[in-house]
Amino acid sequence: MRTLLCFAVVVLTVAVGPPVAAQPAVTTPTEHLGRVPGVDFELADWGEVRTYFKNLGDESPNAVTTTIGTTTEGREFLLTVISSAENLARLDQLKAYSKIICDPRGRTDAEKQEALENGKVFLFVSCAMHATETAAPQFAMEFAYALATSDEEPWASARDNVVVGLFPCLNPDGLDHVVDWYRRTVGTPYEATGLLKLYQYYAGHDNNRDWFMLTQAETRIVTEQLYSVWFPQVYWDVHQQGSSRERMFVPPFRDPLNPNLDPAIISGIDALGSRALLDMTRDGLSGVSTGVSYDMWWNGGNRNVPVRHNIIGLLTEAASVRIASPIFLPRGDLSGPRGLGQYAPSNRFPDPWPGGWWRLRDIIDYELAFGRSLLGSLAREPRYWLANALGASERVIRKGEDEAPRAWVIPSDNRDPAAVRRLVDVLLRSGVEVHVSEDTVEADGRPYPAGSLVILGNQPYGSHVKDLFEVQRYPESGPPPYDVSGWTLPALLGVRRIEVMHALDDDLDLERVTTATAAVAAFGGDPRVEPGSTGIRSSWDTDTWTALVHELAAERSMTLITTGERAGLFVAGAEAPEDDEQRIVLGSMPRIGLYSPWRGNMDEGWMRYLFDTLEYPYLTLRNEMLRAGGLSDLIDVLVIPSIGPGQLDSGRPEGTIPDEYAGGLAPEGAAAIEEFVRGGGTLIGLGSSTQWVIDLLRIALVDVTREPETSEFSCPGSVLRGVPAPDHAFTAGLPPTIALFFSSGASAWREMTEKERQEKDYPDDPKLETLLRYAPTRVLLSGWIEQPQVIEGRAGWVRAGYGKGRVHLFGFRPQYRGWTQAAFPLLLRALLFDAPGVEAPAPTEPAEPD
Ligand SMILES: [Zn+2]
Repeated sequence: MRTLLCFAVVVLTVAVGPPVAAQPAVTTPTEHLGRVPGVDFELADWGEVRTYFKNLGDESPNAVTTTIGTTTEGREFLLTVISSAENLARLDQLKAYSKIICDPRGRTDAEKQEALENGKVFLFVSCAMHATETAAPQFAMEFAYALATSDEEPWASARDNVVVGLFPCLNPDGLDHVVDWYRRTVGTPYEATGLLKLYQYYAGHDNNRDWFMLTQAETRIVTEQLYSVWFPQVYWDVHQQGSSRERMFVPPFRDPLNPNLDPAIISGIDALGSRALLDMTRDGLSGVSTGVSYDMWWNGGNRNVPVRHNIIGLLTEAASVRIASPIFLPRGDLSGPRGLGQYAPSNRFPDPWPGGWWRLRDIIDYELAFGRSLLGSLAREPRYWLANALGASERVIRKGEDEAPRAWVIPSDNRDPAAVRRLVDVLLRSGVEVHVSEDTVEADGRPYPAGSLVILGNQPYGSHVKDLFEVQRYPESGPPPYDVSGWTLPALLGVRRIEVMHALDDDLDLERVTTATAAVAAFGGDPRVEPGSTGIRSSWDTDTWTALVHELAAERSMTLITTGERAGLFVAGAEAPEDDEQRIVLGSMPRIGLYSPWRGNMDEGWMRYLFDTLEYPYLTLRNEMLRAGGLSDLIDVLVIPSIGPGQLDSGRPEGTIPDEYAGGLAPEGAAAIEEFVRGGGTLIGLGSSTQWVIDLLRIALVDVTREPETSEFSCPGSVLRGVPAPDHAFTAGLPPTIALFFSSGASAWREMTEKERQEKDYPDDPKLETLLRYAPTRVLLSGWIEQPQVIEGRAGWVRAGYGKGRVHLFGFRPQYRGWTQAAFPLLLRALLFDAPGVEAPAPTEPAEPD
């Protein structure tokens, strides 16, 4: 059967594949692989894809392949630039034109005209960020080959009028993991079963949520290419979605529209997407949808961030197969595109696909068709698209000049200089200009000290800054958000920023900074710490928490002052200098265990990211290690990331995965965890795992977001206000309000009533302390929430006693996507302050949940 399928695919390829080579010297993808790309059950791994693009660069005068970085796991990261040999010979000049179009400030009309007349459209294409969306690297080889060699249209004109920058794979690590696992399982009962781990080392699928925070190597590499090297006008991000709806989504996107996006950029997206729909329909490719599912509201994605940089950001989402195994879809199993209801013709879905076999090769053909249409559109009117981009740049710069906010100030007396450094670093990497003021900054009638940072609105990427720095107000009416609805970055990092409404003084002496370290040079941080002091550190400064690990690892104890004027300061050694001060004395680093299921869990990945970034050592614990019991032999603290109770108990069902990876924690693993806490261990549960912990240890808490009368409550991704408990040693020195990220699966608690406790036969003395509540009023800082009163004033971080041990429950995720630096220390306090041998005062007044 396998052979027959392969044969059918080969025939199909000859009929609709890319045009025949005009330059026989250039190796075709089929010759390189020894098989047709996209043949059933076969995938090219990164070695095959990488060498294809290196060969192409060597063999074709129209392609240049460069290694532009190293992935998280150490693989080569490639960019192939394809255009005519003449264009490639004067690439520096073309880049200079592209830069003028992106940033026309200070340019004469003649210079701008020259850039429009002689410049070329820069189109960047990115493939396979999501490694299980397997067609794109195979598509990339055929697309590159045709563009580099074919004399047919639109390829030949595109070579003359367009410079294509192609990232053949945005996640080479993941490509290898997926291909390796698929090759091991194909033809077995576990063919195409899910990976055992994340396909991007820390972020998994969230690698497409990292494009403003830039925590990952791949994101940083691409970001630098876009906003500091090439300045493209058009970007195409190639993805796949589920199998049963449309064969491919192409733009326009659905509402709501984010008001920070330039209207001509939006209209450009709509025009290029609509033209592709027409071209693909005329080519006989049915089942293409538009205007459904995907929106441009949220920031952080690989096309939405370019759009905030005045780039036409396109997305295609093709229907998936099972990795490389074909699927048969009877018509009756197909669903209409999301939001359209039935599977029938619509203005947004004019030609439904009839059903039948769907293969990897089909996806490649749809992607090639979109690519041909896009290149055709750009090659026919290159000057038009360059002028459109120039117009957008000029409009955005003018808007920052004429409209509020005109600038943003980051005062140099911010409490966490490490957080400011991180914020400035991501801004600089995103192409944003940052200045430091030599003098006091007067803004809207208030003074900010010399050394404060100023970010001016009238710069090409001003919309990106505005979108990151403002409070998001998601439209009240209309559909709920596709992804998150709020992300105000300074708040998430715990950085104080001022939106400047009126124009700043023209005479203000501003110096442009080029490194984040230079930007914070004048930042003092905690005024209670003398400059240059090594014995005293502020818990406000994120860097302190790394320094602390180093001290404890070197067997030097550290003391946190928890009361009085110096509350929140760490002092070297075990002795608190003042008699009236209470203190927590840390003597050694606890042994941290992190639960990791045999499937990728992004929350676990972000926890590793946090630990690795802060240099906290930890042990990864699998189901079988926990089921073996005796946990106190290994660890002092166990962290269970956000994983649903069913998953924790059952894991992956037998029969869907080789036996060594099947099953979850029930029952022996759960019993071992109960025993561990009862014997004195510390357990930390986050997000979705908290209900499992609550049930396991019979903690008398009720999640108010899941009660029958609160079914209208919704908050799928917003920034909320948290208020730490006063008068508790564990919260000493925290700011009065902390920005938290609340997303799907998050919790808020009330204490069980006596009646509820009796009904469930729960212990009488629940030994609960609330260490942080959702703010009792105005809980929403940024984004969207339905029925905020459900969680206002409710507990978000609870510490509970169990046997000789302690439990910390975080309803929200303090390490969410690596964004929430303001909340990181909450988790670190839970990790460190309940470890063995820590001396801590009893709370003066138990703060219990409502
Ligand atoms: Zn995707």
